[in-house]
Amino acid sequence: MTRILIAEDEPRISSFVSKGLEAAGYMTAVVEDGNEALQTALSGEFALMLLDVGLPSMDGFDVLAHLRGSGSTMPVILLTARTSTRDMVEGLDSGANDYIPKPFKFDELLARVRVRLREGGTSANSMVISHREVSLDMLARRATVGGREVDLSAREFALAEQFLRNPGLVLSREQLLSRVWGLDFDPGSNVVDVYVRYLRTKFGTEHIETVRGAGYRWL
Ligand code: CA
Repeated sequence: MTRILIAEDEPRISSFVSKGLEAAGYMTAVVEDGNEALQTALSGEFALMLLDVGLPSMDGFDVLAHLRGSGSTMPVILLTARTSTRDMVEGLDSGANDYIPKPFKFDELLARVRVRLREGGTSANSMVISHREVSLDMLARRATVGGREVDLSAREFALAEQFLRNPGLVLSREQLLSRVWGLDFDPGSNVVDVYVRYLRTKFGTEHIETVRGAGYRWL
């Protein structure tokens, strides 16, 4: 049975959502705190997470950034009372698959959950992203270049994923830092440059172009 994780600190909302989802045939678990949400999501036991933005100990954006930073592609739908465009953009930019402002109707939430699960389900069979001769198998966590396997650390894999999902686009250091390192590092950190160097060593220097003053682009 499909398991859905609900990270929400308002019992009234979590119980309403949990009862509704169980009536629709899903199994649910509720956590009320950001750290716990992250640890539980990383267990890999859940097919999807509904994630409240305003959570104690770590907010939803940080939970999401850490989750994506550790390479998880689990579908995440953000639940939030905040309706500003900035929060929505920040949420989607940090790797949310969808966004539902509170208050919402349960039917609306259920419809979005079904869409995201269906997307996850179809892509699970072909979870390979590739561009030219470089491929990343998201399930097996394997990287290859021209058919030759390349050994990557979790961070290197997450960085390569960002590039391969956005070939030809310039990604700034700040974007890469927040998507891969989850804001653990200050914006002045050179960790992105260091990891780009690692990827160049492993994949070959011709794949990542430095765009002066702007960032990096996967070619
Ligand atoms: Ca809350």
